[in-house]
Amino acid sequence: MASALTEKLSRLVKEIRGQARITESNVQDMLREVRMALLEADVALPVVRDFIARVKEKALGQEVVGSLTPGQALVGIIHKELAATMGAGVADLNLATQPPAVILMAGLQGAGKTTTTAKLAKWLIERRKKKVLTVSGDVYRPAAIEQLKTVTRQAGAEWFPSSPEQQPLAIALAALAYARTHYFDVLIVDTAGRLAIDEAMMREIQALHAALKPVETLFVVDAMQGQDAVNTAKAFAAALPLTGIVLTKLDGDARGGAALSVRAVTGAPIKFAGVSEKIDGLELFDAERHAGRVLG
Ligand code: GDP
Repeated sequence: MASALTEKLSRLVKEIRGQARITESNVQDMLREVRMALLEADVALPVVRDFIARVKEKALGQEVVGSLTPGQALVGIIHKELAATMGAGVADLNLATQPPAVILMAGLQGAGKTTTTAKLAKWLIERRKKKVLTVSGDVYRPAAIEQLKTVTRQAGAEWFPSSPEQQPLAIALAALAYARTHYFDVLIVDTAGRLAIDEAMMREIQALHAALKPVETLFVVDAMQGQDAVNTAKAFAAALPLTGIVLTKLDGDARGGAALSVRAVTGAPIKFAGVSEKIDGLELFDAERHAGRVLG
């Protein structure tokens, strides 16, 4: 699905490519439009400012003015800097620890945590040949526990039972003990989410983090949430040492801005992208390729 950001930027990119002459003043004009497009798509202001400054610095250097195809050279700089904003290259999952490697899933309700837990289990089984156990610590929504059971089965992984009468910490520690004695490579812990950030939720996931010492703490965020995604990302990054981000629903990204901001505001690399509702709709996030998609 073409996003508003992509439509706007690809129109601008076409215009810029067609420029026969690029002068200091038309670089300024073109970048003003790019800046507007990014702000309208909910990219956080400091991220936009920094991005535009870097493009301007490179464009006004030797790289564009005086180049044979100045428009293309400028588009190339925009592409490169967009990719750099979202991360350099592909950030793989870290499993370098004594097994079972624990992956803790964090995020708001509806972000896609449970779906991503199962997608990740499948990905680890198929791509990394791992033996994977999942468990849900969402004792507030019995349906969430059942949902994880269903999708874990679809993924071909094993599910560790839990129930609303238990404490999340006790559940997680029991699952970890089971994973150890049954030689699992990876334990993925799905956690409760709330509709908005609240202190009790943050304290609970901090306690889980302290007890489980996960090798990966992944923040799952809905790419369609725009500026809200940025604020949520900031709050989670302040509460937990995030090791990576999963951007979900990139297939339906209406505005396209979140991907550009979450890395900058959390300092954590985007590791995966959710690209469909299906169990195999998870990809390693590739900033270069995503920048190309955003530019249309
Ligand atoms: P949780 O509350 O964070 O556990 O969220 P869920 O895993 O229950 O996901 C909420 C909704 O988003 C479900 O309807 C999922 O099918 C949907 N969803 C999750 N990830 C993606 C994705 O990458 N693309 C699309 N299109 N839908 C997704």
